[in-house]
Amino acid sequence: MLSGLLEVAPDAHAGDDSGTSRILPGESAGEQAVLDDAVNLAAMTAVEDSELLIVEPELVWELIDRSNVLARNLLRLMSFRIRAANALLRRRQKLGEFYRQLSLNDGLTGLYNRAWLNEMLPKLVARASQDGSPLSLVMIDLDHFKRFNDTHGHVAGDAALAAAASVIRGALRPSDFAVRYGGEEMMAVLPDTSAQLATMVAERLCQRLREAVVFPDMRLPLPHMTGSFGVASLAPGADERVLVAAADAALYRAKEAGRDRVCF
Ligand code: GH3
Ligand code: MG
Ligand code: MG
Repeated sequence: MLSGLLEVAPDAHAGDDSGTSRILPGESAGEQAVLDDAVNLAAMTAVEDSELLIVEPELVWELIDRSNVLARNLLRLMSFRIRAANALLRRRQKLGEFYRQLSLNDGLTGLYNRAWLNEMLPKLVARASQDGSPLSLVMIDLDHFKRFNDTHGHVAGDAALAAAASVIRGALRPSDFAVRYGGEEMMAVLPDTSAQLATMVAERLCQRLREAVVFPDMRLPLPHMTGSFGVASLAPGADERVLVAAADAALYRAKEAGRDRVCF
């Protein structure tokens, strides 16, 4: 490229959608096409009047055969381009991972969301069935939360919900998972945990929530919250739907029995 400005379109065949690249005077374009033996002139556009020194493919190969210096320079150029392409890929992977994390977490509470649960619970159930290890769920529903909202407003309601979520998460082991199931319903997923142990965990969650004093704005504490807790464990041969339904039924019994308690 002697003068002017060229634009090269991305390589559609290679699945490259990284946008056009610009070729400035002193640079060269098309070496890769020569090496691949697949020239695509349509991909190149002159943005300004441009002067080019055209080197035919046969001549390129002959120069490579004759001159180690030229071959070496060509290799350096290719290596530079590969590195730049790899760096771009890594940046995209990181960004992709970031958005994936974002899509699997709930914005208000920071807990895992329903999409995470839909993806992970079947896997956890399959692993437990395969290993013959226990798996338990605790379904959690805050008590009279509609009344809380009506009395204190939705902003305080949101703060209370976020606070309840952090009480729950803080009372679990690192190997457990806390999920926002919907509205003011949460779920603790407890791998390698028997029904008996899960009931003890739920009792601890229930007590921590009852005792939590929450200062959302560093001035007035929120009124105390309570929750109802339904515990279920994976039965042999059962799938995740059966497990969730069992936890839901146990939660219903806890509500019926007067709330602020754990039922199995
Ligand atoms: P119960 O003890 O039977 O569970 O009574 P409840 O009022 O908690 O039950 P219900 O399911 O009828 O109401 C849940 C309420 O939770 C409704 C809604 O106002 C509130 N809620 C759900 N999600 C949110 C939220 O993201 N923010 C706030 N502020 N409130 C929410
Ligand atoms: Mg509810
Ligand atoms: Mg409720």
